[in-house]
Amino acid sequence: PLKQRLLVVANRLPVSAVRRGEDSWSLEMSAGGLVTALLGVKEFEARWIGWAGVNVPDEIGQKALTKALAEKRCIPVFLDEDIVHQYYNGYCNNILWPLFHYLGLPQEDRLATTRSFQSQFAAYIKANQMFAEVVNKHYKDGDVVWCHDYHLMFLPKCLKDRNSGMKVGWFLHTPFPSSEIHRTLPSRSDLLHAVLAADLVGFHTYDYARHFVSACTRILGLEGTPEGVEDQGKLTRVAAFPIGIDSDRFMRALENPQVQEHIKDLKETFAGRKVMLGVDRLDMIKGIPQKILAFEKFLEENPEWREKVVLLQIAVPTRTDVPEYQKLTSQVHEIVGRINGRFGTLTTVPIHHLIQCRFVGNVEKPQGGLHNSVCAKSCILMHSMDRSLDFLQLCAIYAVTDVALVTSLRDGMNLVSYEFVACQDSKKGVLILSEFAGAAQSLGAGAILVNPWNITEVANSIARALNMSPEEREKRHRHNFKHVTTHTAQEWAETFVSELNVTVVEAELRI
Ligand code: UDP
Repeated sequence: PLKQRLLVVANRLPVSAVRRGEDSWSLEMSAGGLVTALLGVKEFEARWIGWAGVNVPDEIGQKALTKALAEKRCIPVFLDEDIVHQYYNGYCNNILWPLFHYLGLPQEDRLATTRSFQSQFAAYIKANQMFAEVVNKHYKDGDVVWCHDYHLMFLPKCLKDRNSGMKVGWFLHTPFPSSEIHRTLPSRSDLLHAVLAADLVGFHTYDYARHFVSACTRILGLEGTPEGVEDQGKLTRVAAFPIGIDSDRFMRALENPQVQEHIKDLKETFAGRKVMLGVDRLDMIKGIPQKILAFEKFLEENPEWREKVVLLQIAVPTRTDVPEYQKLTSQVHEIVGRINGRFGTLTTVPIHHLIQCRFVGNVEKPQGGLHNSVCAKSCILMHSMDRSLDFLQLCAIYAVTDVALVTSLRDGMNLVSYEFVACQDSKKGVLILSEFAGAAQSLGAGAILVNPWNITEVANSIARALNMSPEEREKRHRHNFKHVTTHTAQEWAETFVSELNVTVVEAELRI
């Protein structure tokens, strides 16, 4: 039997494209979460639709790229530079991203943002329509269309306006904030109506789904039911589908000889010290300064630990052309420098701050290999500049970690916490996890949950984690490991798509 076709629509395609000549491109598939999730799904034949992350103004280039991408089952949406600026940098990253993470609008240019709002929103709708056109062109009866994330909130409506019979699902990878936050958005109602055009709307946690339903009832005056949101007899299903990771991939990696070699090197480098780890994009939502200040407080209050612990903070640069992000980067450097000055000795520093690149393709701009920024001593992690090793290096680092620190101020899910757990089956380290990460809903029983704003609490949790008995560590790890290995990304994707199919059948029965 023919497999059902699944059109996955996301802002970025899971490839990075580099132009080699007038009509030649080289492509690299990324190993991001969504890709691995869908590679594992055997029941559907997946195709990707999205922006390739490059500006291709000429027709020859567009044709050549389209052809190259087709081999990877990818279909490009071409966006010109002005649209990208207003839609992607502007409306998506400057307005929706901070708002959905409870950061409000950027402080410095609040008024400027307010003024440019209308034109950015217009560009957002225009971009969503451009995605819809491409989807429409490739859609065949019986296909399922799965739209992803805050970039494409208008897409369900654009698609249904063109073809009301299309099966459309939408999933949000960030938090959906309280209706009191969503209320402040000038385009609050348009966005909600557009999303409600989908047949199924999914979120990582039950709380986000509930926030969305109450935004619809309070702002639009619609009826919320246990199933979803009802508008004049039409039901939009709303539910929670927590994402997972491909845990096998991480566990397999640990058996790789290269990883074993890395593990050995890391153990030697940090012999006699407990290793604490943070892995975050350099984003305001990750609470990196708060984490480092908590670590400082811990060192202050526990002098006996000063020479016996090291914090590896792996930072992945992101949106590096945005002033707010540049400020965060220099703020983190400053704090790390100060603390290393205060507690460092001639031979060691307490914090190793490493600037890393995101695995190819996931990002705006891959930044080259792993390199060291603050710690003066040439670090073992610098060994390989080969990108393909990054994933393996990361696995080795996860495996040697004693305590992982995830202190996001808000985070849709946070996959780093899952990846850490997947790599800890022999070490059984402790996870300190922000209660404001979606992962707190699933890993809460095994982790030490903290309020990242409360530096005293985080500092105390560090002490507790480092002193925890092996029995308690084992018990907590068991719980999380079981969750991470049984709630995989592949299962997540399968559940969403089959739920979407069921939803549509049920809606047809209701008529
Ligand atoms: N990651 C990466 N490059 C690195 C370090 C981490 O690509 O140098 C990956 C990491 O393995 C994880 C992802 O980036 O899969 C981060 O996902 P998460 O949900 O924790 O946060 P996000 O960055 O999506 O907000």
